[in-house]
Amino acid sequence: MTDSLLDLAPAAAREKIVAWTAERGLPGYRADQINRRLWTSPVGSWSEATELPAPLRDALEADWPLPRLAVASLETSADGTRKFLWRLADGEAIESVLIPSGARRTLCISSQAGCALGCVFCATGRMGFRRNLTPAEIAGQVREIILRDPTDRPTNIVFMGMGEPLLNWPAVDVALTILNDPAGFGIGARHITVSTVGILPGMEALRARPEQFRLAISLHAARSDTRLGLMPIEKKYSLGAVLTEAKRFGRRVTFEYVMIAGTNDRDEDADRLARLAQPLGAHVNLLPLHPGGAPGLAPSSGNRMRAFAGRLQSAGVEAVIRRSRGLDINAACGQLYVEMEKKRRPSPTAPAR
Ligand code: SF4
Repeated sequence: MTDSLLDLAPAAAREKIVAWTAERGLPGYRADQINRRLWTSPVGSWSEATELPAPLRDALEADWPLPRLAVASLETSADGTRKFLWRLADGEAIESVLIPSGARRTLCISSQAGCALGCVFCATGRMGFRRNLTPAEIAGQVREIILRDPTDRPTNIVFMGMGEPLLNWPAVDVALTILNDPAGFGIGARHITVSTVGILPGMEALRARPEQFRLAISLHAARSDTRLGLMPIEKKYSLGAVLTEAKRFGRRVTFEYVMIAGTNDRDEDADRLARLAQPLGAHVNLLPLHPGGAPGLAPSSGNRMRAFAGRLQSAGVEAVIRRSRGLDINAACGQLYVEMEKKRRPSPTAPAR
């Protein structure tokens, strides 16, 4: 972890600032003023914190620079979904998707650059793993959105962008605190969802936190053999073990289920899924496969999805077909990055990520 204040949970950052201001003989209220500018009322650089004297702003800039994420591209969909591709300091790129829906603004954030897990239906999986994000880069995605326009302040956060959050637990752990703490963004824990393929140690760590963060499990198949064909992680953390840990979680979980024609969308798949979801009281999100995201796989038809949802519902399972948002801007996990890379490297012999 770096020395940036933005890599620290608000209480730890405050301690550093209190010590730093005390060393300089500054009055106590200066620490509060500085602290506010990290998350609750953020500034892009200390020079913008005009309530502070200029020499103090310069000293902060020298000792505690505020790292930023640069917008490499921004696309807006006809349905209002906005997709940000951020360029990180070392040149890596990650993305966030802001999805407005009435008064709610859900921001889908990334936790890693790339991903090592290679789910066959996922564009990020095809990029491979680049690196873990720092807490400042994870929470920074929210910070940047607010800096651009405070009226865009997200009301809900989902860790469903690039990467597997529970394989970057130390940074995600801190980022969750920043997102939820009133001295951070103050977003209610029930409005923050961590989505995982089922990394058991990470699920245990999330369960150990006292806040009511929500857990979504990328199930995508109700049989171990089908799941293994879609998600190599099944070999390490099997469906059965993931479901056992989901039961231990003690709060209602959501199953994410991307519907792939002829692979996981038959009536018998629905019945099997119902048998897994029902005892857990799990909510099922049925997701249309993103058309460009998975070569060789076809999305289930609308009729098939409705029939599948109906079967789950008649078995007493709450199942919802999620609309695909931002289809015209490729707003699915990893899509924008892959599009950018294609443009940057048009050669057909360029290695696939
Ligand atoms: S779906 Fe999630 S876990 Fe699977 S490859 Fe994509 S980013 Fe990684």
